[in-house]
Amino acid sequence: MLSVGCVNRKLSGWGRFPVEPCHLYRPEKQSDLRAILHSGAESSYIPRGLGRSYGDAALNSDAGAICSARLNRFLSFDSETGLLECEAGVSFAEIMRCFLPRGFFLPVTPGTKWVTVGGAIAADVHGKNHHRQGTISNFVRDFRLLTPAGEVLTCSPADRGEIFWATIGGMGLTGIILTARIQLERVESAYVVVDYQRVRSLSDALSIMDESDERYRYSVAWVDCLARRDSLRRSVLMRANHATAAEVASRAPKPLALPHRITLNLPFDVPSAALNRFSVGLFNAVYYGLHRNGLPQLVDFERFFYPLDAIDNWNRMYGKRGFVQHQVVLPVDAGREGLTNLLERLTRAGRAPFLGVLKRFGDANPGLLSFPMKGYTLALDLPVDEDLVGFLRQLDDLVRDYGGRVYLAKDAALRPETFAAMYPNLDRFRALKQKLDPKGLLSSSLARRLRIVDG
Ligand SMILES: Cc1cc2nc3c(=O)[nH]c(=O)nc-3n(C[C@H](O)[C@H](O)[C@H](O)COP(=O)(O)OP(=O)(O)OC[C@H]3O[C@@H](n4cnc5c(N)ncnc54)[C@H](O)[C@@H]3O)c2cc1C
Repeated sequence: MLSVGCVNRKLSGWGRFPVEPCHLYRPEKQSDLRAILHSGAESSYIPRGLGRSYGDAALNSDAGAICSARLNRFLSFDSETGLLECEAGVSFAEIMRCFLPRGFFLPVTPGTKWVTVGGAIAADVHGKNHHRQGTISNFVRDFRLLTPAGEVLTCSPADRGEIFWATIGGMGLTGIILTARIQLERVESAYVVVDYQRVRSLSDALSIMDESDERYRYSVAWVDCLARRDSLRRSVLMRANHATAAEVASRAPKPLALPHRITLNLPFDVPSAALNRFSVGLFNAVYYGLHRNGLPQLVDFERFFYPLDAIDNWNRMYGKRGFVQHQVVLPVDAGREGLTNLLERLTRAGRAPFLGVLKRFGDANPGLLSFPMKGYTLALDLPVDEDLVGFLRQLDDLVRDYGGRVYLAKDAALRPETFAAMYPNLDRFRALKQKLDPKGLLSSSLARRLRIVDG
C-alpha cells in the first residue's frame, strides 16, 4: 500500500499553456520515490520541480507527476571549497539565501531563482554567462539518479558519463535525480557592476557583443521586436561583472548582505486585449528611455539576475489563455540573417512579442539533448491565440533551416520531425533511454508529443 497519496490537478508550466489533468505526488522522503515508481498506480511518471519550464516538459496528461519540492534538504557544504551537496528539490532561491551571505554564489543561474536543482540539471540551464562559463553542467560534480529499474546510480562526467550526459538536458526521462553536488563560486558582494548601452539596431547589438562580451562575465540584451526594419530595432545591452567588496563599500557596509526587496503580486489575469502593438510599443519606448548610456551602475543581484521575480504570478499578464516563450539558438554563421528573418516573420504576422531577450552562447557541451550551441539565442514571449502553434511551427522550420534549435524547457509547439532534425543526438538518447527504461515508466506530455518515447 502506497503511503504517499496523489491529487488530481490541472497542471501547466509557467506559460500556462497547455493545461493538462495530472496525478500529482508530493513525496517527503527519497524512499517514497521508489515506492511510487513501482506501485503500478500509473501508466507513467514524470519528475517535476517548481514548474518553471514554460510548456509541457513537467506535465504527464492523465498520469503521474512527482513533485520534488519537499525533497529539499541541504546535505553537506564545504566552506573551504564551496562544494554543496543537496537534495534535488532545493531551489536556487534557497541556495542564494543561505550561501550568498557566506560569500558563495551559484555559478550559473537562469532568469528566475524559483527553479529546483533537479529541474536545472534536467534542462541543463544556462545563464547570462554562457559565453564564458557554459551551462550548469560545468559545475555539477555528480548526481545520484534513481533509475526506472530502481537502482541508485552516482553519475559524473568520469563515472557513467553516458548516463550523466543523457540526464543533463534529458528533461527527466532517464531517471529521478535524488541529490547533486554542485560547485558554488566565491564572490565578495551581492552586487554586480553593470554597463548599460543603448544601440540603434539588432546588427549593432550583435557586433558589439561579438567585439566586447569577453570583458564581461554576464551579458544580455533587450531587443525591441516591434520595429519593422533592422535599422530601427533598438536594443539595450546590459553587461556586468561581480562587484568587489571595495566597489560596494560606500553603498553597502555589509557587502554580502541580501538586498531587501518588496515583491508585488499580480492577483488577476490581465485581459488579453490589453497586450497589443500599442501597449507593447509604449512599454518598449519607456524601457529604452529609462536605460541611458553612462557610468557603470552598482546593481544588487536580485535586480540584475531575477528582475521578473519581483512580481509574483507575472505570468498572468498574458491572460487566461497563457503564452509561449519561444527560445531559439542559431549558429554563429547564420545568426544575423536568421534572427533578422525570424523577426521579420513576426512583424509580417502582426505579432507583438512583449519581451525579446538576446544572448550569445559559447560552445555546446556533450549533453545529448542540451540546448545551447555556439551562436546567438533569442527568447520571445508570445500570447496564445488559436493560430499561435501553427505560426510557431513556421518559425521552427526557419530555425531548423538555419541549423538552429528550439529550447525544450520553453517549448509547447514543436513537431517531432522538426525536433529530430534539430537534435542530432536524439537516436543516441533514445537508445540509452530504452536501456534504462525498457518499460517506459518515465514519460511526459512533451516526450510523447515529440516522440522521444512511444505512445
Ligand atoms: C522567468 C523565467 C526565466 C527563465 N530563464 C531561464 C534562463 O535564463 N535559462 C534557462 O536555461 N532556463 C530559464 N528558464 C527555464 C527554467 O530554468 C527551466 O525550465 C527549469 O528546468 C525549471 O526548473 P523547475 O524546478 O521549475 O523544473 P520543472 O519546470 O518542474 O521541470 C523541468 C524539467 O525538469 C525535470 N525534472 C524536474 N525535477 C527533476 C528531478 N528531480 N529529476 C529529474 N528530472 C527532473 C522535469 O521532468 C522537466 O522535464 C526560465 C524560466 C522562467 C519562468
